[in-house]
Amino acid sequence: SQNPGKRIDARSKAAFEEAKQYIPGGVNSPVRAFKSVGLTPVYMERGEGARVYDIDGNTYIDYVASWGPLIMGHAHPEVVEALKKTAEKGTSFGAPTEMETLMAKLVCERVPSIDIVRMVNSGTEATMSALRLARGYTKRNKIMKFEGSYHGHADALLIKAGSGVATLGLPDSPGVPESVAANTITVPYNDLETVKAAFERFGEEIACIIVEPIAGNMGVVPPLPGFLEGLREITNQYGALLIFDEVMTGFRVHLNCAQGLYGVTPDLTCLGKVIGGGLPVGAYGGRRDIMEQMAPSGPIYQAGTLSGNPLAMAAGYTTLKLLGEPGVYEKLESLSKRLEEGFAKNSSELGIASTINRVGSMVCPFFTDVRVVNYDTAKTSDLERFKAYFGSMLDLGVSVAPSQFEGMFVSAVHTEADIDATIEANRTALQRLR
Ligand code: PMP
Repeated sequence: SQNPGKRIDARSKAAFEEAKQYIPGGVNSPVRAFKSVGLTPVYMERGEGARVYDIDGNTYIDYVASWGPLIMGHAHPEVVEALKKTAEKGTSFGAPTEMETLMAKLVCERVPSIDIVRMVNSGTEATMSALRLARGYTKRNKIMKFEGSYHGHADALLIKAGSGVATLGLPDSPGVPESVAANTITVPYNDLETVKAAFERFGEEIACIIVEPIAGNMGVVPPLPGFLEGLREITNQYGALLIFDEVMTGFRVHLNCAQGLYGVTPDLTCLGKVIGGGLPVGAYGGRRDIMEQMAPSGPIYQAGTLSGNPLAMAAGYTTLKLLGEPGVYEKLESLSKRLEEGFAKNSSELGIASTINRVGSMVCPFFTDVRVVNYDTAKTSDLERFKAYFGSMLDLGVSVAPSQFEGMFVSAVHTEADIDATIEANRTALQRLR
């Protein structure tokens, strides 16, 4: 492990106290505050490859990866170089640049469902815009989403949401009008029967199903065999659109995203995280006839002062190019498998109840022996254990997300030695739980 087993955190604590005077809760995104794990946040100073360095001088092997984007690690030299070159020529024009077309072309080539794509600035914007498009295109108002899924913070999607909403136990956010919530139908993940029943009742009013093809905001929950295929069939049958929210899974699990991995093609796809290479980017794309309904080719409106921003395109394009080199996804798979197996061995040898879900480089150990297939089963995890485990991992020099309802992200720049050190830290952290 990296740190001697106990961190120094005086500077981070002071920085957090200062921040709380000027920023609500001290943070610009809720889970960063470490509230549910009862700690104060670690303030980062620097990242390089698979490591992050905090302002108190501690080092961590990092599996947060900025919550997913940094699949090529922190400050990758080629990404940094592309950013420098771009910045020198100007950071934003509000006019089209050729880089945007290069980026769009690459995304269209690699994502099976995407004929044509629009860049935005976050995952939230991507899903919000895709919803508006689905409603405008189908002329229907209701949408269907899954319990414990998170699709960003647009009103219609903040119902029974995962991620920080689940972490903080805030199932229904104040400020979302009842009239908006009434149009969101929420059903359990991996439960086709309930989806069918809802369609039998409301099918003619449902514009779309939006789904994380691998759920990543209730911990990691893979789709059961037939689930995604079933959603495709039902939406076809009722004339609703199928939207894959691949903000987390896009280019994380496969060069052709989760849809390439499972061979199910949605009508629309939302992207974010990895396609920005650590800069603020989102995108939505899909069938040409649907996407052409967006302004200026069609009547449905969506815009952005900084959309297609040169810096964001440079970082994202460079990251996607690096991912296209031979062996990257094979390496991600073998490192992640090693991590999963090491964790599983530790918990079974130490007699700690555990279920480890994994798809490619998305890995999630739960403190339960129940099979985790949806939000209800994810919630069987012992959150008090998670809390203690999380604190130990930090002390031992491993940074994971401060929530049971998030996965670990392995990057292509982790080494086998990093993975083995992480397995060793996991063993020590589990021993302390006994
Ligand atoms: N969809 C999914 C599946 C996500 O995981 C997230 C973010 N964790 C979002 C949408 C929202 O993206 P952003 O935070 O960039 O708005």
